[in-house]
Amino acid sequence: MMDLHKIYEKLLSKFVVDNWWPAESQFEIMVGAILTQQTTWEKVEEVIRKMKARSLLNVETLASIDQEELERVIMPVGFYRQKAERIKRLATYLQNHYNSDPSLLLSRPLDEARNELLTIKGIGKETADAILLYAGKKGTFVAAKHCCRVLMRTGLIGTDKYDDVKRFVEQNIPPDPEVYAKLYALLVQLSKTHCRNKPQCQGCPLEDACPFNRSKRK
Ligand code: SF4
Repeated sequence: MMDLHKIYEKLLSKFVVDNWWPAESQFEIMVGAILTQQTTWEKVEEVIRKMKARSLLNVETLASIDQEELERVIMPVGFYRQKAERIKRLATYLQNHYNSDPSLLLSRPLDEARNELLTIKGIGKETADAILLYAGKKGTFVAAKHCCRVLMRTGLIGTDKYDDVKRFVEQNIPPDPEVYAKLYALLVQLSKTHCRNKPQCQGCPLEDACPFNRSKRK
């Protein structure tokens, strides 16, 4: 049976995940973490490009932008009304509480910053952890459903509950933001290439040891 370290090493030897979340600012990652809810990364990139071209990616502009104008810009990512509201709410929060400087929030101790982000309506655990890990470089794992799927199939965990999966990873790997960011990216990469809804086990880097491996079954 594999352990989490072995999975990490095996995936690291197979996939390149450096610079997984390229961004020019912490705020760009925060906005991206909202845009990426229930959509593909390609659509997020398209919208981020549009926002940059219109010089929208700063706290004060997004706090004051007309909601419908923002909806039109971010439409390709889907759920655009809800996401526009969430982005405006986050920007307004940063403007009111942190003088429009996201680094002041992100430099707070992990638990305090996480609890604070979770008080902002529309920012759930996964979005908060993604913001803290990628924008804040904090040692918090993002237990997204793709990650849970791989860890369940490989027999490491018996639950896909967010808090339980996050705790499992954090108990098994010391809190190093670089390692957590890579592990998350590797699991997402595996879930896109092999461990999809319907798994493509043949050629999967974990196929030899994975108990769920379909190619070994009759
Ligand atoms: S062997 Fe199959 S089930 Fe196991 S991790 Fe790979 S793709 Fe997923």
